[in-house]
Amino acid sequence: MSRDQRHRARRGGPNSFRCRHCGLDVPIQAFGTAHRNHCPNCLWSRHLDDDSPGDRDADCGSLMEPIAISVRGDGEWVLVHRCRGCEELRLNRTAGDDNPLLLLRLAVKPLAQTPFPIERIAQV
Ligand SMILES: [Zn+2]
Ligand SMILES: [Zn+2]
Repeated sequence: MSRDQRHRARRGGPNSFRCRHCGLDVPIQAFGTAHRNHCPNCLWSRHLDDDSPGDRDADCGSLMEPIAISVRGDGEWVLVHRCRGCEELRLNRTAGDDNPLLLLRLAVKPLAQTPFPIERIAQV
């Protein structure tokens, strides 16, 4: 098999999925996660898993929007996804090649939209 054929055989096969939000072909193998379930380019996911990551048991299948970042005790960043179809919230580990700019944007979102005047912090 030539290099080119191998490349084509891999595209769209079981080793990758196409992001339904931005259209990127995403290889399933990723650094830092065993079950990649979101797009590293736009961070959107799909509601495919039911109880545990990778079980592919959910009937929903709707797109899941990345809405926030959470941090685990060991400092690991976790993405919070909300399903556009059923509103379910999901926590997903970030992967080593996730778009760092988008991750940062999610992380600082609450600071950019504080429910109180941020100057007040200086007086505390
Ligand atoms: Zn995408
Ligand atoms: Zn859903």
